[in-house]
Amino acid sequence: MEEKLSGIVLGGVNVGENDKILNVFTLEQGVVSAKIKGVKKAGAKLKFASEPFCFAQFVFAKTGKNRTVIGASLLDSFYPIREDLSKFFCGGALLEYVRKFLKEGIVGEQTFYLLVNTLKEMAYGEKAPECLLAYFLINALSLSGYALLLDGCFGCGCELGNRIFFDYAFGGFFCESCRIETSREINADTFFCLQKISRGESLEKERCIRPLKLLDFYLSEKTDVKINSLKELLNIL
Ligand SMILES: [Zn+2]
Repeated sequence: MEEKLSGIVLGGVNVGENDKILNVFTLEQGVVSAKIKGVKKAGAKLKFASEPFCFAQFVFAKTGKNRTVIGASLLDSFYPIREDLSKFFCGGALLEYVRKFLKEGIVGEQTFYLLVNTLKEMAYGEKAPECLLAYFLINALSLSGYALLLDGCFGCGCELGNRIFFDYAFGGFFCESCRIETSREINADTFFCLQKISRGESLEKERCIRPLKLLDFYLSEKTDVKINSLKELLNIL
């Protein structure tokens, strides 16, 4: 049986001398695995379709549960992401997030469009890749059921001021009078930057570092999932 799906390559592992097993996030079927043959040979026609970030219309041959790529027409390679170190690290974190959070075969249309739009902006837009990564994480976490609550104090709903406390178990922020024992004080500017990023504002790289650190902390504590490329990125920032 043949199956046509629009998908983005998240990564792959080598099998044998010339083949790969790809991890592809598709619009129609969620994350799927597929074998792609002969792509390590010189001049392989489908080599482009085995590279991370490749966004293509894939044609799979399906036998039982196994898929093999038999054709692909490129929609976008987001090539500039590979030419810039910051973009490459941030883009890698996007792909790793999807690999770790979206289970195989579970459709995630909204996350798919969020990923395509973020990759597009990262490749061709003006915003700092760190800002786009933070925007993606805030929204993707919300779609995965781990929303950060950025509207105001989680306790009383007031607008937060100069002392702000974060509690990862709630994904919420508290004012000084509502703070709970498990919350810890954060730099107030981190909260305001997160708010701005979540509204789609463009922040320079330096103002995205603390928000990314908080997102990394929240991810590790709340979900037990570690995004290694995010940690590597934070080490070089
Ligand atoms: Zn309060």
